[in-house]
Amino acid sequence: AVHSRVAAVTGANKGIGLAIVRNLALQYPTSPMKSGPFLIYLTARSPEKGAEAVKTLHNDPQLKRAKVLAQDGGDTTITYHSLDISATKSIQDFASFLRKEHPEGIDIVVNNAGIALQGFDANIVKQTLETNYYGTLEATQDLLPLIRQGGRLVNVTSMSGKLNKYSPAIRSAFLSAAETSVAACTALMEQFRHAVEEGREKEAGFPSAAYAVSKAGETAYTKVFAREEEGRGRGVLVNACCPGYVKTDMTRGGGAKTVDQGAQTPVLLALGEIGGRSGGFWQDEREIEW
Ligand code: NDP
Repeated sequence: AVHSRVAAVTGANKGIGLAIVRNLALQYPTSPMKSGPFLIYLTARSPEKGAEAVKTLHNDPQLKRAKVLAQDGGDTTITYHSLDISATKSIQDFASFLRKEHPEGIDIVVNNAGIALQGFDANIVKQTLETNYYGTLEATQDLLPLIRQGGRLVNVTSMSGKLNKYSPAIRSAFLSAAETSVAACTALMEQFRHAVEEGREKEAGFPSAAYAVSKAGETAYTKVFAREEEGRGRGVLVNACCPGYVKTDMTRGGGAKTVDQGAQTPVLLALGEIGGRSGGFWQDEREIEW
């Protein structure tokens, strides 16, 4: 079937990612992006977990009541595709699949997949940067060119990546990297990684926190991509957001928001009326200071 709108969500087998897929399906029919049949790729690194998640949504009572899915007479289809953002080959395979399947382009990408490891040492920093920073970066680099005119790319970063926990020098380095290039953002991440290896990240102006720094880096390059897109003039809006503090496996029982509440800002940035804004950092459905 030909779908007029195509979306892909990473790390969507559970937590906020799964809720993003669910809320994309629920909100699409009344959104400004509405234009004919909608296809959502629920992607996950585990085929079993991905298939299970699709099944959960096919049986979701609220989706059934809303009659949005094709099986219930609606025009939205949710389908699994494998994607491990820490594996270059997996990202490339998904991108070529999309290019072949949707030569006319896709409309929405939500980079939600991420990890938060316990503890702090050089190995944790390496692993965290590999998935959160570099994985999301590669997904953005490979998928953004597939987004057509008027589309959206959303990176789910975090308020923990706000710039209030750095030395003035590192804070300005982040702000300047976000206005310069991906390479400048990556240089900051490598500066952090090396400082941690030498046990002197505090002296270097960084917090002893792998996740927070990886998320600051993601927010930084999101702004770089937004500006590059602006230059292309295709009206593709690129934004970063924090879902809020959400009850998921990641927060291990903590979290003030439900996953549906956590999905609201990413879904707004993917589907909603945002006044053409791009390059912003959002939380609670509005732009906030980074
Ligand atoms: P969960 O741990 O519940 O879910 C994370 C999802 O990401 C899982 O589907 C996981 O898959 C997937 N994932 C992890 N690594 C990879 C990978 N290499 N490739 C593909 N998928 C991967 O976390 P949340 O739902 O809470 O978090 C979603 C996003 O929101 C993350 O980016 C997180 O940093 C961010 N966030 C969350 C907050 C919160 O309060 N919960 C606050 C701020 C930001 P698998 O099941 O296979 O592990």
